[in-house]
Amino acid sequence: THFGFETVPETEKAKRVYKVFENVAQKYDIMNDAMSLGIHRMWKDTLLHVMHPQPGAQLLDVAGGTGDISFRFLDYIRSQEERQKRRVARSSQTPSWRDISNNYSTQDEPRESRAVVCDINKEMLKVGKQKADSLGVSAGLSWVVGDAEELPFDDDQFDIYTIAFGIRNVTHIDQALQEALRVLKPGGRFMCLEFSKVNNPILSRIYDAYSFQMIPVIGEVIAGDWKSYQYLVESIRKFPNQEEFKGMIEDAGFYCVKYYNLTGGVVALHSGFKL
Ligand code: SAM
Repeated sequence: THFGFETVPETEKAKRVYKVFENVAQKYDIMNDAMSLGIHRMWKDTLLHVMHPQPGAQLLDVAGGTGDISFRFLDYIRSQEERQKRRVARSSQTPSWRDISNNYSTQDEPRESRAVVCDINKEMLKVGKQKADSLGVSAGLSWVVGDAEELPFDDDQFDIYTIAFGIRNVTHIDQALQEALRVLKPGGRFMCLEFSKVNNPILSRIYDAYSFQMIPVIGEVIAGDWKSYQYLVESIRKFPNQEEFKGMIEDAGFYCVKYYNLTGGVVALHSGFKL
């Protein structure tokens, strides 16, 4: 094609992806806002809303980059904890069945919630870690260099596995899905945000025009990097549609696989469980 990426051999893809994110790491957050007009924040908030994690949950955020999903995860859990505290305070005089059952819970000490940000690119992790340190939100976070296709974790470790705008960058998607299944605990949930296929023909034309013509321009203006953003647009075009990807998640061995279209299918949120 005119983009010239079709001929890149698979072994080259990983190298190219690495270069892209190495180049954009410092400007990654600002580029996300610029290119999605801030809408990526809403997609990520929706992921957390659907996930609805509870105190004690252990998250693995693969292709986690600068940590957006993990920050939101810990933030969400903190607000859940606040709500629980308020409920207990309110009911201290007349305890509800819920407080009583909490007191008799089999778990003595509630586990601390944790989020592990795992990414193949140490530059992206470095930017994320600096952000966490400067915002004072490093507690509960860890940053691990690792490949989605060969995760550096033991089996059955996590309650939730997320991969946001990462899976289309992976060379062997089936291998990454196998690894997700392996590291999740039984009952654990796989959740993926990824650009997908717009069904509405009018929205589709606007989106095509915007992404093909504007995104590389914004990439050049803000990050001085046309090619990386050309790659981005091309990789979105090549990624399987909602139903195909759902089938791949099922083939990997997940159950109750479903998806939600966000912004008319510009992005899809896929979810499945390990049983
Ligand atoms: N999840 C973050 C977010 O939503 O803002 C970052 C998404 S960014 C578009 C994609 C990330 O995938 C990059 O940080 C890149 O380094 C990472 N990545 C690409 N291939 C990977 C692989 N095989 N294993 C782990 N991470 C990978």
